[in-house]
Amino acid sequence: MTGEISRKGAKAQRTQVAKVHCHPERSEESCRRSSTGHKIRVASAPASAQDDRVTTSPSRFAPSPLRAFAPLREALIVLAVLAALVLATPVRAEEGVVVRASEAQVNFPRGVSFRLEAESAAGIADVQLQVNTPGQRYGAAVRNVRPTFAAGPSVTATWTWPRFGNQLPPGAEVTYRWRITETDGRVTETPQSSVRVQDSRHDWQEISDGPITVRWYKGGESFGRDILGAARESTARLRQIQGVELRYPLTIHVYASQAELFEAVPGAPGWIGGISIPEFDTVMIGIEPTNLPWGRRALTHEMTHQLVFQMTHHPTLGSRVPTWLNEGLAVVAEGETEARNRQLVDEAVDADTLPTLRALSAPFSAQSGHLAGAAYAASESAVRFLLDAYGPEKMRALLLGLGDGLSPDESVQRAYGKSFDQLEDEWRRDAGLRPFDRGRADGAADDGSAGANLQRDPSDGGIPWTVWLALALAGATLVAAGAGGWLVYRRLRS
Ligand SMILES: [Zn+2]
Repeated sequence: MTGEISRKGAKAQRTQVAKVHCHPERSEESCRRSSTGHKIRVASAPASAQDDRVTTSPSRFAPSPLRAFAPLREALIVLAVLAALVLATPVRAEEGVVVRASEAQVNFPRGVSFRLEAESAAGIADVQLQVNTPGQRYGAAVRNVRPTFAAGPSVTATWTWPRFGNQLPPGAEVTYRWRITETDGRVTETPQSSVRVQDSRHDWQEISDGPITVRWYKGGESFGRDILGAARESTARLRQIQGVELRYPLTIHVYASQAELFEAVPGAPGWIGGISIPEFDTVMIGIEPTNLPWGRRALTHEMTHQLVFQMTHHPTLGSRVPTWLNEGLAVVAEGETEARNRQLVDEAVDADTLPTLRALSAPFSAQSGHLAGAAYAASESAVRFLLDAYGPEKMRALLLGLGDGLSPDESVQRAYGKSFDQLEDEWRRDAGLRPFDRGRADGAADDGSAGANLQRDPSDGGIPWTVWLALALAGATLVAAGAGGWLVYRRLRS
């Protein structure tokens, strides 16, 4: 509940800022000086002594009505100088925008609140706030927002960036600057300040090894080391057995229970056990120190999603990894197949209700109970088959193909030299089923099982299409439902 004020933000208080822009052409030192709160008094500085690294508008600080009265200039200059000597301090102190306070306060888990106090004798007509998360690995996050304020000579402007789901996780850096417009149209921008989002409700410990950092607050040092060890093992196993690589740093925030994790992720569903936030190289997970075995599996599951995202993310298309592949890899990474999943697959094979991989390409999170369980189990079965039959290198190639912007069909073809449908049928045969009838004359069931195809009930040819279409529609609905979103990857069990 407590927050922290950015040091830079605090330093920026009481800093007079006059048309200061950290333009690229400005020297780094100049930007540094202004952004660390160096007092800039352009208005009262003699022209000769004026800091040329500070961009100013001459018309603003040297109004020249004298130019219109050239004949009187010499005489008036004397008067002007005298007047200036008398009035200089009070008049110039009122010129331009004076920033009394500029700050950002983290109110974890709710959001980050920004506040500006500024004055202008001319009057302030408009205030805008630009916020950014420069540490966000994928895509720009710059936002220009209009804070709440009342126009006038003295304004207090406030705006809160609410946290929701995977937004602004612990560790995220937020930069901000204000753009202040006076009634005469002159614009002043404050130097950029920054604040780091932290969950300061807990007393965090931290341990790192190479690209992996673990932060935790309960369970003592040995618990942190255990988590780090588990993360390292998972990374090595993922690479060797599944072809899934760690490409960027990873910070794991371990909450002491699922309930405490739930509090830290506003808007999360109640069953959340972990959340992978690849944009910020962050995993948040709830692990009770007394439940490490479960914690290892859950952690490995979330880490897999993180790594899969890294490998499959395309600069403009995003990560288009099908859910069956993403969840299948994550469940396989947990370790041996659990008895429950084996049973669900066996039941689906016996009843010939094993879902198609295309139907499993949409998120599972909207499914509930048995349906979702069967979806995870089938995904695990398919991925295990691909790894057993073709090894980690082909899987790696499949993921990298998605990262290159290929569709799943194209990427499967490039990685395995076979069509998606052929590969799916191989999996089905391996599970003890006949190839899936896709309703084509030259269907995939032409390789030795044509007899079985011909012997089917005549109505059999139409039903799969109907089911398929229904599933596709359901899938589209699920995609739409998830589009608002954020990537929560569900830990299914417990
Ligand atoms: Zn998952």
